[in-house]
Amino acid sequence: MAYELSRRSAVFGIVSALGSFALPKPTEASPWEEVGYDRLWVRNANGDELAVQHWVGERYEVQAVRLLSWLWRDWRDADAAVYIDPMLFTFLANIQTNLSVNAGTPCLINLNSGHRTARRNATLEGAAKHSYHISGRAGDFTLRSFLPDDVYRMASNLNVSGLGRYRTFTHVDTGATGRRWAGKGLTL
Ligand SMILES: [Zn+2]
Repeated sequence: MAYELSRRSAVFGIVSALGSFALPKPTEASPWEEVGYDRLWVRNANGDELAVQHWVGERYEVQAVRLLSWLWRDWRDADAAVYIDPMLFTFLANIQTNLSVNAGTPCLINLNSGHRTARRNATLEGAAKHSYHISGRAGDFTLRSFLPDDVYRMASNLNVSGLGRYRTFTHVDTGATGRRWAGKGLTL
């Protein structure tokens, strides 16, 4: 994958140019362009930012999943990238949309940690040995305008599969359902 991520307007341009991205009409629940149940607005800790529609009609949008997967890459370890389970994007879009509606404004997701190489994961204090971050099924993030506890509560209400409560971020993954824990480690 050799996608250049840049500012979100530029990314919209790329996706539009491929003809696969139609600006969706705002839903009742989300009057905003960048936030909704079918899309994600996210920035990684490297500064790459995307606002893309990953779900169109009744299927995942391949180009958007590629772009998001690249944003999820382990930029701390040679830009190693894997395809991310798109269900994760759906979980995060639901959390982002519901809390944005509560806030009355679109709230950006700041991704602290997406994909991790097994090598780098093994060096991190507090990281599970077989972390879902390695297999591209997890994200650690914060949501602008909200405390991690608020994000945790919403994610719990939405029944995401795996949910970790940390002081400074929230972990969500698509592993076995019903897993809940409180962590204290400062993983990145
Ligand atoms: Zn995590």
